[in-house]
This record gives sequence, structure tokens and C-alpha cells, in this order.
Amino acid sequence: MVTGKIIIITAPSGSGKTTLVKRLLAACPQLEFSISACTRSPRPGEVHGKDYYFYQEDEFKKLIGADAFIEWEMVYTGKYYGTLKTELHRIWDAGKCPLVDIDVQGALAISDKYRSVSHSIFIEAPSIEILRERLIKRGTETAHTLEERIDKAKLELTFAPKFQRIIINDNLETATKELIETVEEFLH
Ligand code: 5GP
Repeated sequence: MVTGKIIIITAPSGSGKTTLVKRLLAACPQLEFSISACTRSPRPGEVHGKDYYFYQEDEFKKLIGADAFIEWEMVYTGKYYGTLKTELHRIWDAGKCPLVDIDVQGALAISDKYRSVSHSIFIEAPSIEILRERLIKRGTETAHTLEERIDKAKLELTFAPKFQRIIINDNLETATKELIETVEEFLH
């Protein structure tokens, strides 16, 4: 059962979403980041229970079987990601509003299901070339996973009009301001 509001943010990989989300969380203390479960390996510095709940595939599948997720997706080949019901309730019970930062399909699934209590935001990079440059600069991808992320981003861009708000991240300051404004308007 849903007992509060939900902010849903999605973006193709490399659109600068992580920086914007950090700024939004700093500006809006009533928001709390919803920690997803996933089966990919932690990157250097990532911590279980802070960045993600990291699970083995068999554990994740058991959670699917137990109906523990509000949504889940195989976001990349063989890599599962999902939003746990317990995570949203943990945040609502603390009197806060969860911010779910998830892939486009997951975001659409939640916003369709909870339209009246959610605000869905799509963050767009100014171009696929800029997105490619940002991903290369981040240095976390192999040639193969880079191409997979670019292909996925191209497909994801076609879904942008389904979101309640689109923010183009060509200028970080402007995009931050727009993001904070739309979230505050929804929360109040
Ligand atoms: P990364 O591996 O770079 O941390 O995340 C890869 C993608 O998975 C990102 O687009 C991120 O938004 C998405 N993601 C993270 N958590 C979830 C989740 O709980 N559900 C879904 N559907 N996607 C998620």
C-alpha cells in the first residue's frame, strides 16, 4: 500500500543525473534517496545499504518470488535492479518522500501505477555525443558496456514525452534550479 508521495527521476546513463540528484537531495531535506537492490558488482567506494543493496542473482530472484519489489527490471544483460517495497515504507514511515532514481522502464511502471501520488521527471543530455563523452570521462565502462549504454540511451530518449517533466541538462546550474522548482511545487 502506498502511504505517501513519490518523486521518480530517470535519465539515460551519462546525462548527469547523479550530480543533479545529489544537488536536489541537498536542497530538499524532505526527500530521501530510495536505495535500490541490484545484482551488479559494487564499483570502488560503493557500499551495501548506502548506494545499493547488492545481491547475488539467486537472492534477487527469491525476492522477486516473494513479491518484495514495487518494480524490477533486467536493466543490462544479466543485471537486475529493483525498488523494494520495504525501502519505500522505511522512508514514508520516517515522514519523508522517497526519491527513486531508476531506469526508464521502471520509472514508467511506477508512474503508471501511482500516477496520483507521483511526479515523474526525465533528465536529458543535450546530445548523444555529449552523453558518450561523459561516459568515457567517467571511466567506469568497457568498450562493450559503453556501447550498450549508448544504445539503451537512444531508445530511452524516445520515451521522454511520457514523463510529467523533461529537464535538459545542458547547463548544470539551470537544470538544478528547474529540478528543485518542479519538485518543491509537487511536494507543497
Ligand atoms: P548503475 O549500474 O549505473 O548504477 O545503474 C544503471 C541503471 O539502473 C540506471 O539507469 C539506474 O537508474 C537504474 N536503476 C537503479 N536502480 C533501479 C531500480 O530499482 N529499478 C530500475 N528499474 N532501474 C534501476
